[in-house]
Amino acid sequence: MGNQPIHWADVIAHDVAGPQVIATGITPSGNIHIGNLREVVTGDAIRRAIISSGAEGNLIFIADTFDPLRTVYPFLPPRFKKYVGMPLSEIPDPFGCCVSYSEHYLAPFLESLDELAITPGVYRADLMYKAGQYTTAITTALEQRDKIAQIIETVSGRRLEPQWNPFNPLCAHCGRISSAEILQHVPEMTCVEYRCQCGAEGVADYSKGEGKLAWRVDWPARWKILSVTIEPFGKDHAVAGGSYDTGRLISKEVYDYDPPRPVPYGHIHLKGQGKMSSSKGITVTIQEMLDVVPPDVLRFMIIKTKPEKLIDFDPGLGLLTLIDEFDHGRGRAVELSEVSGQTSTIPFRHMVTAVQIARNLDELIEVLRRSGYTSHNVRDLKRLAENVGNWLDRFAPSFVKFKVQETLPVQAKTLTKGQKQVLLKLAAALKLDSNDPEWLHNEIYNISAQLGVDAKSSFKAVYIALLGENSGPRAGWFLASLNPQFVVSRFEEAGST
Ligand SMILES: [Zn+2]
Ligand SMILES: [Zn+2]
Repeated sequence: MGNQPIHWADVIAHDVAGPQVIATGITPSGNIHIGNLREVVTGDAIRRAIISSGAEGNLIFIADTFDPLRTVYPFLPPRFKKYVGMPLSEIPDPFGCCVSYSEHYLAPFLESLDELAITPGVYRADLMYKAGQYTTAITTALEQRDKIAQIIETVSGRRLEPQWNPFNPLCAHCGRISSAEILQHVPEMTCVEYRCQCGAEGVADYSKGEGKLAWRVDWPARWKILSVTIEPFGKDHAVAGGSYDTGRLISKEVYDYDPPRPVPYGHIHLKGQGKMSSSKGITVTIQEMLDVVPPDVLRFMIIKTKPEKLIDFDPGLGLLTLIDEFDHGRGRAVELSEVSGQTSTIPFRHMVTAVQIARNLDELIEVLRRSGYTSHNVRDLKRLAENVGNWLDRFAPSFVKFKVQETLPVQAKTLTKGQKQVLLKLAAALKLDSNDPEWLHNEIYNISAQLGVDAKSSFKAVYIALLGENSGPRAGWFLASLNPQFVVSRFEEAGST
């Protein structure tokens, strides 16, 4: 492996010195999909690379639970209009099952992270504000309002209103966090006086979470509060004049803190559908993916690709190719993707065949035994079988699906004399009691050559006799997986009609 280029995560690890804090985060305003997963997996790959370089690396995850609800998303009931502008942590769960809106979307995401062997330190923005972790940063921001406004205007080219402030008070009357104007700052009491668009006036104590910093200021404030040194984030924040550009300057000039090393990453597109987006309903959730692939494969999809490159994700046939690549792969990307406790030695592609032959777990174990896979733990096997079953149901292209026919398919009438001879010879070969998949596969070629039949047409005969189709799974492995008596009598029947 000496000639392999250094993996991108190791490049980052080599570049930094001393203990590292890698920050990731998401606003839990809707289903958290595998597009969002890229950030956390990228961060975790960097953490692993840093640790294997001998340094200290910590991954943290900040949930932006204190962000306001921006709009009534299509998946929300219309009555949620009254919550627009309120922090996600303060809005009830639209489905009524969790303590808040934000928790409803956050909890399943954190559970999936666990399955992916990613265990970041988790912070919830609303709790950080309520605990006073931001207090000093807010005082500084309010005192340096003009400097911050100037940075934002110069770098982003955006014009700010004269009444703009880096801090948004939470209105005690209407509960909104983005519609009040600050009248006065009283730093010694950590308070601001405000007037809200709802007509109310009041006093907000920012040491108690009664408001939050504007996003472009919140981000650099957080770098300092949590000592962040590396941060992966979506490419859209990395554009010139974007929030990383303004954040970097605010970090240096207002908070006197060295901004983290940026790791901008590209989107994950869903093949043929474009960028994944919760609000547009173009998503595959992480749980849906984990229903289908082992967690290490999901990590691998992200880790094998350089962060700045777009991932065009195809959950159909592309997923099989990805799994093959992982199963046969070596090298750093595989290493950085491994999730301990995943011990399946059965190739996914073979399971796709085995699961479609077997009708229950006992049969599955038998089918696998015939094709040479004997050592497996039943729990892992069950899980893999479930993964494969889900994939077949939801994403598999129709041509990989098949059903072994219980009786001779009507299509057998179309078999030529040559094809029938091939089947009879194959039946005889199977009686020799050799069900080595590779031997059987080669035997189809040998028999074809002996009889002067085109090999393609021999394979077709095999599939017609068993499936009533012109194609099917890799023949040698397929035949080896089936009950040999069944195959022998089927081929004899097909060959003698
Ligand atoms: Zn819920
Ligand atoms: Zn109000």
